[in-house]
Amino acid sequence: MARKRIGLWLIGAKGAVAATAITGWIALKKGLVGPRGLVSEMPPFADLGLVAWKDLVIGGHEIRDASLVESAEAMQATSGMLSTRDLARCRTELLKVERNIRPGTVLNVGPTIEQLAGAGVRRRREKARTVVRRLQDDLKAFIDQHRLDNVVVVNVASTEPPTEADVLPARWSALSKALDRATPCGVPASSLYAIAALDLGLPYVNFTPSLGSAAPAIDELARQRGTVHVGRDGKTGETLLKSVLAPMFAHRNLEVMSWVGHNIFGNMDGQVLDSPANKRSKVASKDQVLSQTLGYQPQTLVSIEYVESLGDWKTAWDHIHFRGFLGTPMTMQFTWQGCDSLLAAPLVLDLVRLTERAHRAGSLGSLDFLASFFKSPYGVETSDFFEQFAMLIKWSSGVATR
Ligand code: NAD
Repeated sequence: MARKRIGLWLIGAKGAVAATAITGWIALKKGLVGPRGLVSEMPPFADLGLVAWKDLVIGGHEIRDASLVESAEAMQATSGMLSTRDLARCRTELLKVERNIRPGTVLNVGPTIEQLAGAGVRRRREKARTVVRRLQDDLKAFIDQHRLDNVVVVNVASTEPPTEADVLPARWSALSKALDRATPCGVPASSLYAIAALDLGLPYVNFTPSLGSAAPAIDELARQRGTVHVGRDGKTGETLLKSVLAPMFAHRNLEVMSWVGHNIFGNMDGQVLDSPANKRSKVASKDQVLSQTLGYQPQTLVSIEYVESLGDWKTAWDHIHFRGFLGTPMTMQFTWQGCDSLLAAPLVLDLVRLTERAHRAGSLGSLDFLASFFKSPYGVETSDFFEQFAMLIKWSSGVATR
């Protein structure tokens, strides 16, 4: 059987996560790095027939007039990923990817993100339907030019201010009509990208806290077009630790009285999240893990502050106040210092392979077995990381034996 050629289309293609994922993918193909940090490279997934790194082609949408090479160089300076010599070896391929990047949309993203956009993108005055058609034309041209069998669209764009899923009409037929209205229809850009992809039958992954495909009408569209989607908000740092530690308190019958988490970081994502409206989306996403796992709501506080000098190095300090037998209060504290994009990038690559495989296996609608990758997985009852990972293993054994 001929090998499949699969596209990865990144929304926010020149941001920190995207530039790290693209550079990491090139370095993997060239054998400059090993597979450490990639879940899909672990033994349980070896027989799934996942797409090979060399069979991926990358493109995307972006709103800034930035250069991908410069973004990758900035990431290298911050995170220390690769040596300068190895990064130079990736340059030609980075330039090839750059040629596949098209101007995105800032419709309904709010003023903070709009300010990031280049003049050309900001000047466009399109209604929602025109935006969706333009995004689809870009995707179709990418498929034709590279003779691709499928394209997984992954949203790694800046976090939009919150839009509640129930603000959009509940049915796809009504949402589709709303896209034709001349007045702004309130559908955020993240959802327009999702609609553009799913309507073409392409899988869509929302790695951000933005609405994306979380609205029921968009899930209906995915099912109608025979495709899959998954989200929301990659679980890479403090929330990953919460979803690992909270089950321990629950399984030892310890009562968590309060859990306070302070996060400080200084990259462009941090700058966008410094705006109160955009920050609300992230805080909501980080704050729901505990009540789901513990079965009650302890007092919680989640703060996210922009500290420019830290760059991509996110520091979280968590203080957990708990009690057990005889009611004596005790404390656990931890400090997490992770390089945000180095934690996120491999998960983006994993999600492309696993989502494409699920689509090929005939899955439909939202993919609950990928819950361990997300802070707010769609329609999944458990926030326990180990239960979520068991769902992934179970799915993979089912697919491998088919
Ligand atoms: P970033 O600010 O470096 O990159 C975002 C990119 O998206 C920028 O290049 C920006 O110009 C572009 N963009 C913004 N709006 C766009 C639009 N409407 N269309 C196309 N491009 C657009 O941020 P990042 O650190 O790369 O993070 C990306 C996203 O992933 C954020 O939403 C973040 O919250 C989410 N996320 C990151 C992590 C992590 O880094 N560990 C974990 C979970 C979620």
